Amino acid sequence: MANIQCLYCGQEFPDNLSECPSCQAPSHFRKNDWSADTKKRFVGFVILVAIFCAFMIVYLPR
Ligand SMILES: [Zn+2]
Repeated sequence: MANIQCLYCGQEFPDNLSECPSCQAPSHFRKNDWSADTKKRFVGFVILVAIFCAFMIVYLPR
């Protein structure tokens, strides 16, 4: 665990925090910005679009 410096107030805090404990500014050093749930939803959306495209390619009159 390393300390990072807040971009707004210059206070140092551990890099596992999502926001500065001093001024509550969001940390820009988070390694995992996307939660597993958001990733799953995004993958589901991409699959849905792919299925829609495949449907259009097969069934649309040319
Ligand atoms: Zn701060």
